[in-house]
Amino acid sequence: MPRRPIETIRNLGIIAHIDAGKTTTTERFLFYAGETHKLGEVHDGQAVMDFREDERERGITISSAATTFYWLDSEINLIDTPGHVDFVAEVERSLRVLDGAVVIFDAAEGVEPQSESVWRQADRYGVPRLCFLNKMDKVGADFDASLASIRQRLGSNPLPLQIPYGAAQTFAGVIDLVEERLLVFDATSKGSRLDSRPIPAEAREAARTVRGTLVEALADFSDPLAELFLAGNEIPADLLRPVIRQATLERKCVPVLCGSALRNTGIQPLLDGVCWYLPSPADLPPAQGLEPKSGAAKRRYPRDTDPFSALIFKITTEASGDLHYARVYSGRAATGDAVLDPRTGRKERLRRIFRMHADRGVPQEGAEAGEIVAFAGLKDAATGDTLCDPDHPIEYEPIRFPDTVVTVAVEPRNAEERDRLAEVLRRLEREDPTFHQQVDAETGQTLLAGMGELHLEVLRHRMEREFKLHIHFGRPRVSYRETLQAPAEAHARFERMIAGHLLAAEVTLALSPEPATRGVRVTQVLAEGAIPAACIPGVLATIQGSAEGGGAFGFPLTGVHAVVRSARLIDGNDAAAALNAAASRALLQALAAAKVVVLEPIMRFEVRSPEEYLGGVLKHLSAKRAEIAESHVQRAQATVLGTVPLAEMFGFSTTLRSLTQGRASFTMEPLDHRPIPESQRALFERRRLV
Ligand code: GDP
Repeated sequence: MPRRPIETIRNLGIIAHIDAGKTTTTERFLFYAGETHKLGEVHDGQAVMDFREDERERGITISSAATTFYWLDSEINLIDTPGHVDFVAEVERSLRVLDGAVVIFDAAEGVEPQSESVWRQADRYGVPRLCFLNKMDKVGADFDASLASIRQRLGSNPLPLQIPYGAAQTFAGVIDLVEERLLVFDATSKGSRLDSRPIPAEAREAARTVRGTLVEALADFSDPLAELFLAGNEIPADLLRPVIRQATLERKCVPVLCGSALRNTGIQPLLDGVCWYLPSPADLPPAQGLEPKSGAAKRRYPRDTDPFSALIFKITTEASGDLHYARVYSGRAATGDAVLDPRTGRKERLRRIFRMHADRGVPQEGAEAGEIVAFAGLKDAATGDTLCDPDHPIEYEPIRFPDTVVTVAVEPRNAEERDRLAEVLRRLEREDPTFHQQVDAETGQTLLAGMGELHLEVLRHRMEREFKLHIHFGRPRVSYRETLQAPAEAHARFERMIAGHLLAAEVTLALSPEPATRGVRVTQVLAEGAIPAACIPGVLATIQGSAEGGGAFGFPLTGVHAVVRSARLIDGNDAAAALNAAASRALLQALAAAKVVVLEPIMRFEVRSPEEYLGGVLKHLSAKRAEIAESHVQRAQATVLGTVPLAEMFGFSTTLRSLTQGRASFTMEPLDHRPIPESQRALFERRRLV
């Protein structure tokens, strides 16, 4: 069956600060597109996209479920993204596979902290976007102030294509400046029926003025338009739209629309805007990757005649097995085809291919360039892996996830729970690349490591609800790291009789600080033939594994370059075992001799609070070793920006609530790891392992 032209596909993401109205808007998209027959409200726990129990309970969207629906003649693949900063990595991976985004703002709040950081992420990925000023019905909704905050805080060029008709209680529709019409939405049909009317007399002049500014701004992007504009001619909608589209794709401007998702106002024009102004996969440059063996640069065009290639951006575990969500970049694959995963070097079979709708998967015969689909039946493929035509291999850049910043120890109550825990954790780890399990080097306890308190709490909820696993959770702790302050070197000799054979080898290892390196980079400068060549990769992997497993204090080493300077095999009966053991010993000795410093995670935060509580909030923050970068008051609302060690922030939301009678909000995200303060060093020194 020939599919629709690639030009009609829109791979779309909605990004927004938590509570801006993403879930409500998504619900309306699916309702007006005929995918759902009932409008679920977030507050009654019926939202369709948030299909996980814990999400329904919290009213927040955590996983990037993908769903397909149709609008005008377009196929829209909506990739859901989370609004909470603890899930910033989820946003990151969605951005990797999106072509365009709708950014939703609460029109009473303007640009909020999280929208700002996601905006910058979207800039990094070059994603064209539209803005939707939601909640125009709310007291305090301010179209012009929101527009100004987009211009000032995001440094972007917003282009209003609509203005609101009325505001707050009097908000009654949107004035479309391109068509010069007033759009009103019928409440009894939940906004399904909309009426396009002439702009009422009292709003005509304001509309004319803003349209004039719009046309003038667009004239900068198009000579023919500029000529008409200068000649004072009327400029019809059909001439404006292609210019808006081109300027949006080139990211010279961001079209701005407005409405109220809750009041079912302005949603269909937003969908029209997605189809008219956001890119299709065919508008993008070819995907860049590497030929796995030679490392040569390769590109793939989004067309069926190129070899098949796709990127896995999400794995979910279903009762029937894993589903691998993938973006197809080029070519086509049919159900049953074998594809190559260059990371594992294995071929995998695409046993089934689905297109996902909000609550069901529809089996497909194949998957084609530009599409977002889910594969069933893959065994070893992980999030971030490329799948490709085995005869034309290519590997795309893997998706990178930030380091974890908190851990919590968990304790099963009996042997049966222990077994189930191991299985559940493996499953959760497969689904969520920002979550890891570790074993505490000292206590042997199982540790869960994640991106923040809320992240771990959500995982705990899933364990309890989905897997009925009620294990004991300890208190969350900061994930420390350690690094070197000066180079160190050690020469180690390993010698032992095992089963009547002597195992003996020597290794000299040099460690030096290398701040730009994440983790440990291990290289060697061995003389040709010093040890059997087959043993070298094992020696390097041993050093890397144990250094990243835990250094002098038992925390993972980072920012370190390790060089194997020399190695010698004294007895060759089991060369690999002898050399690996000597390498481990050299690492321990080098660490024992080294000046090692413990690093703690530093978070970037933003607190918003009514002005009257500002003094109390600042006092509390400064007692928490926070560095305030900026603090300002606008319309009686104070905003404080800065950095603070995560170790000081446990329970901060409770404190903030009591300091401000629940009227403040805050967000934070991992920034980097920095040395712990002098005052805490002695405490850690006592716990030094080597
Ligand atoms: P999300 O966190 O971005 O997914 O936001 P939700 O869609 O869950 O909405 C957050 C809250 O704002 C809910 O209580 C919604 O009912 C409410 N809300 C959403 N859209 C509007 C709107 O247009 N006007 C008003 N007044 N409230 C809205």
